Amino acid sequence: MLMFLARGNRRTGRVVVMAAAAILWFGQALGQAATHTIQRGETLGVIAKKYGLSTTALAAHNGIANPHRVKVGQKLTIPAKTSTITYTVRKGDTLSSIAKKHNTTTAAIAKANGISNPNAIKPGQKLKITVGSATKKTKPKPSAIAGSTLREINRPRIRRKRWKHIVIHHSADSNNSIRGMEHYHRRVRRMENGLAYHFVIGNGVKTTDGKIYVGDRWKRQIRGGHLASSALNEVAIGICLVGNFEKTLPTAKQRTSLKALVSLLRNRTGVPYSQVRTHRHINPKPTICPGRRFNLRGILST
Ligand SMILES: [Zn+2]
Repeated sequence: MLMFLARGNRRTGRVVVMAAAAILWFGQALGQAATHTIQRGETLGVIAKKYGLSTTALAAHNGIANPHRVKVGQKLTIPAKTSTITYTVRKGDTLSSIAKKHNTTTAAIAKANGISNPNAIKPGQKLKITVGSATKKTKPKPSAIAGSTLREINRPRIRRKRWKHIVIHHSADSNNSIRGMEHYHRRVRRMENGLAYHFVIGNGVKTTDGKIYVGDRWKRQIRGGHLASSALNEVAIGICLVGNFEKTLPTAKQRTSLKALVSLLRNRTGVPYSQVRTHRHINPKPTICPGRRFNLRGILST
């Protein structure tokens, strides 16, 4: 968020139990994740039960700190079902063949069984295996960004060495809309160029989950207004994720979009990895932005 930006109204609707809209769910293939949009009347408990999960597991998977605070329209990622079995190693087995057979990874089996050398398994040895825990890695490449957005991002001509940093912010309020943020910066903060960031990534509340909104400042290749330093604003691209990451985590789609956007921008501008920073780490004045739960390196390295 902007320096000195007042915290927004934190209305978080508690979902009331009403007639739940029936959503049929036809089972889930191992290793695949599904999403669920919270309907009026659904609690996290009701949804968890529907998918054969515990409320805690569902909350943890979605970075929800307080399971009572979920909103109608909020999107949840449903973890693939897993179960733990005991497997007896047979002659000819390798850890990787066992992993493959059970749709998991060598690393996961090694970790669960305290195996330090994956080549040192013996026939007859018993292994605890969590079946179906392998998750397909989504490779965030520029094509993870919608074609029309990609064209918008790529359209402006960029002067050589124009940008030195890429700085990540949160909006500090999960209810923010693009219009609201634009209005706040232009009218309340009186920034003649409006929206202080070059990009905003939506969270699925009043913005589309994972959508990259390309700001006017990027289209015009002009300075940002997101840092408490005029010199830094001149050379720092600002990306703001809608949400308050003191309280929740960015959504899976926000993380994927951020990684893809950073990679694309770095390719186009030559900003080095070390200069992709959080507001907190670059700002000359103390700020909590983008929140303690936001792990930039974690997102960029997955
Ligand atoms: Zn910030």
